[in-house]
Amino acid sequence: MDGTLRSRLLRVSAELDELLAAASIDTVSDSSLLNAIDRIGAARRLVDALGTAVSGEIAKRSAPGDEESLARRLGAKNPSHLVALRARLDPATATSWTTVGALTATRRSILGEKLPPAHPEVAAGLDLGDIDSASGRVIIATVDACSIAADQANLLEETLVRQAPSLTPRELTRLCREVIARYAPETGEEREAALRARSGLRIVQRPDGLTHIAIDTHPEAAGLILASIDARTAPRRIPRFATEGSEPVEDHDRRTLAQRRLDALVDVARDSVARDDGQLAGTSVSMVVTVPLETLVSGRGTASIAGIDEPISAATARRLAAVAEIIPAVLGTDSEVLDLGRSARLFSSAQRRAIALRDRGCAWGGCDAPPGWCEVAHIDAWYLGGRTDLCNGVLLCRFHHQLFDSGGWRLEWRDGVPWFIPPRWVDSSQTPRRGGRPRLAA
Ligand SMILES: [Zn+2]
Repeated sequence: MDGTLRSRLLRVSAELDELLAAASIDTVSDSSLLNAIDRIGAARRLVDALGTAVSGEIAKRSAPGDEESLARRLGAKNPSHLVALRARLDPATATSWTTVGALTATRRSILGEKLPPAHPEVAAGLDLGDIDSASGRVIIATVDACSIAADQANLLEETLVRQAPSLTPRELTRLCREVIARYAPETGEEREAALRARSGLRIVQRPDGLTHIAIDTHPEAAGLILASIDARTAPRRIPRFATEGSEPVEDHDRRTLAQRRLDALVDVARDSVARDDGQLAGTSVSMVVTVPLETLVSGRGTASIAGIDEPISAATARRLAAVAEIIPAVLGTDSEVLDLGRSARLFSSAQRRAIALRDRGCAWGGCDAPPGWCEVAHIDAWYLGGRTDLCNGVLLCRFHHQLFDSGGWRLEWRDGVPWFIPPRWVDSSQTPRRGGRPRLAA
């Protein structure tokens, strides 16, 4: 990162300061307001470019397989996970920053001489505040996908960076897709393999309470999924009866097509859950609903579904508790789950379920792994006399389980909250770090 990027940012913020110098924003003139929003856009791109440069350096110091890796030392899975935690970013932006940052950083030869970045034109565009890292990522992916000579690739990169500021992100993506179609012709099989590689299902818990599930499918999966939904959304003619002179019967199905498709998918999932015996992983195949006894009895308050952030109403919890394939877990007054305390080496499936309910996912601070990806770790190792009971078990994803077991970390419960104490070689002051999912007091 060179100093000009930082000085550009300082200049833009000084200009902003001048434009908005009036006592209150509602007294600023129209032209100052518009000039301000232009500069805020520029400042945002420059901050993004600065974040990209810094994240690229973090990525450089976190090479996979390196025992001294910066990300690993701090308990993060990879550099973008570390960047997301520290800068409080969504995972997509953090990934853009680290991947684009690594590809636009100055490189050094074995002799220590400075070498140009792998993608110099994108690097220059970021430095000038012309493009942001998201556009940079699209351009880099496009250039890399094309099978063209190096000088041609450079020309293409330069052209795309020059055009990007006048295009919306969507227009840029469309342009890049056209470029790929022209310069990277794939055979049918290659194309299918590429589509398969890009397929996936992403789950995002949105702040408004909706769970956003985005599915990108290759044609085969799309066909199967759509067929199972279509079979249940085909408009059915429900016979309606009306005696003469009576009010016309209301057509109650006023769901939109989108809502009917969702209901169909939920039906498919319900069938699948009903057919599974729940013995596979103890917690991952059954839907577990946690409800305080008080809520179940009074019908007031909320309950929760394992792995979903948004609470459900007492009424929904009561309804679900009556369904055979749902496992209701009733909590006592202090939210304690029945302790099975057995002197076995392995946690029983009932214990694993209870711990999954308590910890609701990997207990490591900042880790999002849901219960289905987690294992129950012994806090005091069983072979050192640690008991296999609930207070000696904690839910950790495979990565953090390994780190915890091998890295000399310790765990202390304080008021039901797990605190992780780093080994001296990670933090010489051994300051405890808070873990667990945030939970509202009763
Ligand atoms: Zn984890």
